[in-house]
Amino acid sequence: MNPSDCLSDGCGVDAATEDDWIFNDRPEHPEEACGVFGVYAPDEDVARLTYFGLHALQHRGQESAGIAVGDGETVTMTKNLGLVSRVFTESDLTTLTGEVAIGHTRYSTTGSSTSWENAQPMLSSIGRQPIALAHNGNLVNTSELRDELKSKGIRFRSTTDSEVIATLVDHFTQEHNKMRGGIQETMRYIRGAYAVVLVTDDAIYAFRDPHGIRPLVLGKLEDKGWAVSSETCGLDIIGAEFIRDVEPGELLKISADGVETMQAVPAEKKSLCVFEFIYFARPDSVMNDCSLYEARRRMGAAVALSSPVEADIVIGVPDSGIPGAVGYAQGSGIPFSEGLVKNRYVGRTFIAPTQSLREQGIRLKLNPLRHVIKDKRVIVVDDSIVRGNTSRKLVQLLRDAGAAEVHMRITSPPVKWPCFFGIDTDTQEQLIASAHSVQEISDSIGADSLAYLSIDDLVASVGSTEHCLACFDGDYPIDIPEKVRKGKLALEPRG
Ligand code: SF4
Repeated sequence: MNPSDCLSDGCGVDAATEDDWIFNDRPEHPEEACGVFGVYAPDEDVARLTYFGLHALQHRGQESAGIAVGDGETVTMTKNLGLVSRVFTESDLTTLTGEVAIGHTRYSTTGSSTSWENAQPMLSSIGRQPIALAHNGNLVNTSELRDELKSKGIRFRSTTDSEVIATLVDHFTQEHNKMRGGIQETMRYIRGAYAVVLVTDDAIYAFRDPHGIRPLVLGKLEDKGWAVSSETCGLDIIGAEFIRDVEPGELLKISADGVETMQAVPAEKKSLCVFEFIYFARPDSVMNDCSLYEARRRMGAAVALSSPVEADIVIGVPDSGIPGAVGYAQGSGIPFSEGLVKNRYVGRTFIAPTQSLREQGIRLKLNPLRHVIKDKRVIVVDDSIVRGNTSRKLVQLLRDAGAAEVHMRITSPPVKWPCFFGIDTDTQEQLIASAHSVQEISDSIGADSLAYLSIDDLVASVGSTEHCLACFDGDYPIDIPEKVRKGKLALEPRG
């Protein structure tokens, strides 16, 4: 890490370097873009509440984390590269005193992942009033906006969409002389997926795109205050009660006046990312009144009905494949068994593996229970296949452990289209299902058989049609400008 990337006092841990070996290996799953959190609780330790909220949202982004606190006069912030547990020290949290706070965990989809400047929250100002902003999602019209708004005298400092949002909020708030008017005007200009929390010295603002692509929920801390979070698990960890979703196109202000709401821009067809249900969100979270664990269990049961196979045991790929495997076992009557153990802390080590260890790839992350697998016909359940490399290694790992047969069952439809809404997927050409049949993929990963969940069964499992399904059907809820789709799409989108 460049020394200038350090915070002025005590950038003690070079987290980017520690985690480089993990980040440089392209993950097999699509990666979540970010988690956002906010709390208004004047008599509480808001920085500490946010710290625990970010811990609960750590799975949504592991590259950087930050907390910004408003204390009635100004906004102060600590952020750095690395995991939540490494970014904040006890003294950071003790120093960050105030009544309102927001926090962010980041997985980069725009900008460099190893730059301190790109970590969030983004500190900015409106005239002389400091603000900090944190964003989950991805805008699809940042470069159009830059061209269009130059004529209004707006100058953008960087290309990250979060900074574009902050710049617009600054400009329009000064024009309207009101923060809510400024955010509303900003929401009229920006297109794409966004769940944003913004803190001033005495209030939090939370707003969500008109399609509600990325999740955002509101919770109540008894009579002590309010919280917003990407997922309900962020509310649970601080003892806040889930109240409701922040609605698509809604803008909330949380301050001493309580929670004030406005429909800042008209809501459009609800399109919550269905991958939240398949993989991204924690199984103990609830979205659209649906338990994510139950949804995943139903997905597994549905694949068992649509794609049965004779076998001795069902195992899941930890952690996200486990509920699906439980569902498959229930649907098929074949016993569920633990078959793979995750090397849970390997991604958190300070020590990079040797080259030969790296080459073993999957073995760093998963170890088979040989006595369970040996001589068995194994059904292995995973949540998705993106490029196929990990699945190939997984099948080999199970064969090396003595499996007599390996049948792979996937609790999502084939991923054929890239995401433009804040999820880091590959280009379309790199997605194995975009150009290969299920049988070809099965042959390529070396499985005895392979089957996926159908789109209809996915929709039935999540209990609603109000979802973005674009990575399976190419029907994007928002038009993707030519400039943005270029290089990532090989085919014309449907929508
Ligand atoms: S394209 Fe896929 S990953 Fe992206 S928002 Fe839609 S469903 Fe989610």
